[in-house]
Amino acid sequence: MADIAVVGGGAAGAAVFGELLRRVDGATVHWVVGESAPGRGVAYATTDERHLLNVRAAGMGVFAEQDEDFVQHASRHLGEVSGTDFLPRQLFGDFVQAQIRARIEVARQAGRDFAIHTESALAVTRQATGGYSVQLGPGRHLHVSRVILAIGALTQRPLRTVSQKALDSGAYELDPWRLADHAKAPRRLLVIGTGLTAVDTLLSASTRWPNAQLVAVSRHGQLPFTHSAQPLTTYPHQADLNRAMLASHGLAAKLRLVREALNDIPQPDWRSVIDGMRPINATLWQGFSYEQRRQFLRHIRWIWEASRHRTAPASSEAVQQLREEGRLQVHAARVLKVDGSVPLQVTIRDRANQLVSTIESDRVIQATGLDTAVAYAEHGLLSQLLRDELAVADPLQLGLLAQADGQLLNAHGEPQSGLYALGSLLRGNLWECTAMPEIRAAAHQLAAQLCETTIAPNRSGCVSDRQRS
Ligand SMILES: Cc1cc2nc3c(=O)[nH]c(=O)nc-3n(C[C@H](O)[C@H](O)[C@H](O)COP(=O)(O)OP(=O)(O)OC[C@H]3O[C@@H](n4cnc5c(N)ncnc54)[C@H](O)[C@@H]3O)c2cc1C
Repeated sequence: MADIAVVGGGAAGAAVFGELLRRVDGATVHWVVGESAPGRGVAYATTDERHLLNVRAAGMGVFAEQDEDFVQHASRHLGEVSGTDFLPRQLFGDFVQAQIRARIEVARQAGRDFAIHTESALAVTRQATGGYSVQLGPGRHLHVSRVILAIGALTQRPLRTVSQKALDSGAYELDPWRLADHAKAPRRLLVIGTGLTAVDTLLSASTRWPNAQLVAVSRHGQLPFTHSAQPLTTYPHQADLNRAMLASHGLAAKLRLVREALNDIPQPDWRSVIDGMRPINATLWQGFSYEQRRQFLRHIRWIWEASRHRTAPASSEAVQQLREEGRLQVHAARVLKVDGSVPLQVTIRDRANQLVSTIESDRVIQATGLDTAVAYAEHGLLSQLLRDELAVADPLQLGLLAQADGQLLNAHGEPQSGLYALGSLLRGNLWECTAMPEIRAAAHQLAAQLCETTIAPNRSGCVSDRQRS
């Protein structure tokens, strides 16, 4: 049995399903997409045109080899666009769907076996005869030899500081993408978080409720930095810097090297230095000890995230305008308590002067970013995998323990044959694995690897790159 199941209907699931469709012949490729529109997932399901991609159009794609690239697709819909533009995320969702539709059509014409299931995977269990059973519903199982989990990050859990009364009030929103569910305009809306999701939330809220006062609170009050309007030239000594970073020991030594590079003469744009580290980020992370990773998360993560995951210039300008108009206040403070009903009482401690104050807000939106703490998640499938010891939570709550190729480790620390993850669940192993450039490369590699090493030649064939071309 050489069938494969891809679980998760977001862009990562689409990427690996499409790669497999092209390669696997003689076995069935299943795609378990749940109820949402396949290929869009959380990021590309937005319909708000102010939600822009944070990667330039030329850098966005879903497959390693595409029939049409995203810039061409966008130009057909928007008129002339440049590869350096930051385009609406919704448009990229359209592109992913068009690409996957095209691959499905080709696979259909070639007589390939595949199935798309609009249910969620409830459980994945190991079968005595080898392979896995993926449960979709009562009495509905897929029997496959390989499973790829592409289920993205977890849905948010409420912060521990939020009282039950506040949660019950309906004024505390855990899902930043559901502003439209709140019909009544708030006088004041408070967003917990100042990252990319918070920026999108603030922009949507400012349009939807033009008279609302907006407040954003996070420990450092650091909004994402801004991309340059045009691509930057590469730092000329990037290769030397990367080599030195890989050879150096300890976080302090690595930070020193980055600082020296930033003070080089002529001084490079810091953004090009940070971006130039992208090819070595996973290797650097894998070289860190548990303690170094912990230190990184505690002391460096906030500034790394703001520097590495930057906003499009138009988004930053819109946020800046809100601040200048006095409609948006940003606080560097710790949220101590969210209590009450409407208005909610949000008690914060200011980072600079440690003063405690309370802000009244008609609505509070939690936009605290990627949650990968699988051990605490209310996610049926993940809980079952942990319970059955087919998977193990990363000790720093960065998804599941896995090998570099995405194969999960079981409770005995051994590779769990045939069970893989792709995307955010691999943060513990790869750190940078959540954006499309990384996901697309990983999906291509995983599909090639599964074909080359694990699919029995007598049951199924793999179409090689040469045969395709
Ligand atoms: C707001 C936002 C903006 C972003 N912007 C960019 C950008 O501009 N450029 C970029 O490169 N990256 C961006 N990213 C990163 C983004 O995470 C990736 O680009 C990509 O969308 C991740 O897709 P995914 O499939 O891994 O996860 P998701 O989009 O989370 O999709 C996973 C899907 O799996 C489903 N699922 C969960 N459990 C099950 C189950 N048991 N059975 C079936 N289905 C299940 C979920 O419901 C979900 O639909 C952004 C992310 C966010 C959140």
